[in-house]
Amino acid sequence: MPHRSSRWVAAARLGYRCHIYEPAAGPPAGDVAWAVTTAPYEDGAALDAFAASVDAITYEFENIPATALDRLERRRPVRPGRRALEVSQDRLTEKDFLAGLGLATAPYAAVADGAELVAALARIGTPAILKTRRLGYDGKGQARINAPVEAAEALAALVGAPAILEGFVDFSAEISVIAARGQDGAVAAYDPGENRHEGGILRRTRVPAAVPRALADEAVLAAGCILNALDYVGVIGVEFFVTPRGLVVNEFAPRVHNSGHWTQQGCAVDQFEQHIRAVAGWPLGDGRRHADVEMLNLIGTEVAEVPHHAARPDTAIHLYGKEGVRPGRKMGHVNRILRG
Ligand code: AMP
Repeated sequence: MPHRSSRWVAAARLGYRCHIYEPAAGPPAGDVAWAVTTAPYEDGAALDAFAASVDAITYEFENIPATALDRLERRRPVRPGRRALEVSQDRLTEKDFLAGLGLATAPYAAVADGAELVAALARIGTPAILKTRRLGYDGKGQARINAPVEAAEALAALVGAPAILEGFVDFSAEISVIAARGQDGAVAAYDPGENRHEGGILRRTRVPAAVPRALADEAVLAAGCILNALDYVGVIGVEFFVTPRGLVVNEFAPRVHNSGHWTQQGCAVDQFEQHIRAVAGWPLGDGRRHADVEMLNLIGTEVAEVPHHAARPDTAIHLYGKEGVRPGRKMGHVNRILRG
């Protein structure tokens, strides 16, 4: 599901030709790619021909079926590797992995049916959030439970999908770290950004995050720890809740991340180029920030506000070329340089 072409533009800037594999016709990334294959993830012959045409494979969507990746991985290196995808595809596996690294997470329990939900609620308490283990993003596949009487309704909303119950984290802020690991194991991180979500969707990211330096450093170290544990190659986005008792990891995404788009105007090497550098075996940029930046997503009809943003000389505009405006659909973003 290539909906942002920035990394393929970054690859082209480094002199690479990109071949996009995408089941849906007319991917926006195709506008800036050398070749496009339109075929389902189940089409073995198409996957083989695709693999034969490239040197290395990366992805920008973590819900690619494991069988397709297994097939590709037998033919060409896939970066980041299988393990990162496996862990991040399933919220339960992900929480177990993070807890295994000694990182704080929300209290959680697996929920397969009504009886397990009742038991999980008795242990974790309310408020809590019931989430599908797989295929959830931007707040989709989630139901909040404010009191045990709401359990049945929340479970019904997930229509039988295996789920995880998470205790609601009472946070003062949400921050994220975008970091990268190269093929030589070197790690580079960007400064944590402070994120504001509405309805489960990221609205804006601001750097620097208004958190103490020690906390920002702790977040960067946690991201490094995850990268090393996964023997990761590429860019990762790690989301944290800031709480009175310290940082709590929410989740990570094995790809460039919406909350890292500010790097396009804030750093010499942005997250997109950084990702391509890692995947192609280049040295990484250092991640240093040369400006304070606010990134604002253009969601749904907000894309009509582009002329307003374009009238500001301090604002860069990025549009994704998506056809069709839908509520909640990310159509683009703007990066505004903040000056004292
Ligand atoms: P997610 O898809 O898990 O990233 O959730 C989207 C957003 O919902 C997060 O960025 C938070 O704002 C909120 N959220 C998710 N899980 C929790 C939780 N356990 N406690 C509090 N807020 C949460």
